[in-house]
Amino acid sequence: MVKIDFAYCPKIADCIDAVKANELWLDGILNDSDKRKFVCPGKTCSAQITCANMDKTKIEQVRAPYFVFTKRNKTIHAPKCDFEEQVELLREKQDSETRISQENCDQISFRMNRPEDTKTMKLSISSDLSNEDKNDDNRELPEAEYAKRQITHSNYYLLSSLVDKYLIALKEDKLDSVRVLIEYPEKGYTYKLSTLFKRIHNIGITKDLKGKTKIFYGKAFINYNRDKTGYWISFQESFKTSKKKVLCFINAETIKNTVNYQFKERNLLKNNVDRELYVFIMGKVKETETSVYINIDPNNLDMMAVSIDDILLTKSFEVNSIED
Ligand SMILES: [Zn+2]
Repeated sequence: MVKIDFAYCPKIADCIDAVKANELWLDGILNDSDKRKFVCPGKTCSAQITCANMDKTKIEQVRAPYFVFTKRNKTIHAPKCDFEEQVELLREKQDSETRISQENCDQISFRMNRPEDTKTMKLSISSDLSNEDKNDDNRELPEAEYAKRQITHSNYYLLSSLVDKYLIALKEDKLDSVRVLIEYPEKGYTYKLSTLFKRIHNIGITKDLKGKTKIFYGKAFINYNRDKTGYWISFQESFKTSKKKVLCFINAETIKNTVNYQFKERNLLKNNVDRELYVFIMGKVKETETSVYINIDPNNLDMMAVSIDDILLTKSFEVNSIED
């Protein structure tokens, strides 16, 4: 059986992956009950799919979110379901785009500025919902709905989603074969996961690194600042070329700039005060006489992620050893 990488979400009338489903839940766009409302993206098919771990924060997840068929012991796909053909088509398309056919290359994209409709948490909720009949496996879909079921590559805007992909690739030893298109409003740049993510103790602060936006991460402690208006993230490791303390300050403005900010402040910062964990920051490095600062950029909590995944412990000295 083909692994379910994508499922159709009737609520937003789009075909998404499980990490994306969790992203929309973290934003408050999908609710807890939506986790059981996914269906097979195949034409004429309505095999029910559940998104495991969709309704959990990254700290609560033992593994990244994933899809499973809701009813496991049945012939679940409709007779004319073309799910497997769609998966094959997507694979071919990605291979030809990346020209690395033998490597099974995955492409994902990440938006530095989230889409407008997600800022107000008013994604266009599908009107098809009312006439959805979950029990009719053979119903023909209207052409318009079928078009929405086309599988495309994944597009995220929360750093935590990209971190999920990074950790999965790290486990599968695929950091060089997963590429991320980083989309700015004007243009885009493609990176391998292995060059986008920078483990702090594995790299030096070179001239080249200064002023560049990268994803920096390492073991850290989170604490309130003196007047409790913000948080200090104190990394427990230094850059290769410097013994200086590495810090990131999250101020009230950063928090207020974030969609669904109370929830995200609680889960990323407040609940983790005094706890050692891995912190990921999209941002730029700035060195002063006494410290090295990682300044979050764009300035909102979408660009911060935390993890307690073991893989970072076991593989931490092997990855990101190449400086570029
Ligand atoms: Zn199906």
